[in-house]
Amino acid sequence: MTGLSLKSVCKKFGDLNVIQNIDLTIEPNEFVVFVGPSGCGKSTLLRMIAGLEEISSGEFWIGNKRADHLPVSDRDIAMVFQSYALYPHMTLGENIGFPLRLAKMPKQEIQQKVSKISDVLHLTKILDRKPGQISGGQRQRVAIGRALARDPKVILLDEPLSNLDAALRLEMRVELARLHKQLDATMIYVTHDQVEAMTLADRIVILNNGQIAQVGTPLDLYNKPANTFVAEFIGSPK
Ligand code: ADP
Ligand code: MG
Repeated sequence: MTGLSLKSVCKKFGDLNVIQNIDLTIEPNEFVVFVGPSGCGKSTLLRMIAGLEEISSGEFWIGNKRADHLPVSDRDIAMVFQSYALYPHMTLGENIGFPLRLAKMPKQEIQQKVSKISDVLHLTKILDRKPGQISGGQRQRVAIGRALARDPKVILLDEPLSNLDAALRLEMRVELARLHKQLDATMIYVTHDQVEAMTLADRIVILNNGQIAQVGTPLDLYNKPANTFVAEFIGSPK
């Protein structure tokens, strides 16, 4: 069970203060959604948690371990991106198992693991196909499957559904909620879509200009928006 905490975390790109003094504790197994307008720093925050970007100042903790400078590979964190790149020449099963092959897991164990993951993600019947032969929603599921392969304790998803059409987005939202219930993992999900945030989150973190505008349950934010930015953002779904 792994929670995360950020203490006065800042990020600068040159003179630009992209993330300013973020204090946030994420509980083990929580589903937290970062939401906010484009450019507010959501991806940067996620990339710092993943270890793809250094923090400029402050502290980052994974459980009770100081983790600011831990390399990506030691964080037990997996990330799913908006533009998920599957390997086109590999089958879906090989795509999901690829991180395990890299980790030199024996073939038979890889097969067992892939079969378990594809069960959960409803991919079992199409495992022998290649990425070019399946739908966008199925491709995104494979990308999630690949992220799950190594049983990460924390799963980060950066606008994973934004390339899908509305019907598929809805279907995948339901899938993700179900997945979270089944997995023993903390999930942090980034979106600029308020409705997605409201339906998925245990807690929502609203970001504005690199700062936290409000943190709370969907109901908290809806009933007691802390300021006009939050009220307008929550009140005007696209
Ligand atoms: P979001 O994901 O909320 O749309 P980002 O985290 O991608 O926002 O970006 C936040 C701000 O940081 C933007 O102004 C963006 O231009 C800037 N930014 C992001 N990455 C870099 C970088 N590598 N170098 C310089 N500026 C960056
Ligand atoms: Mg982004």
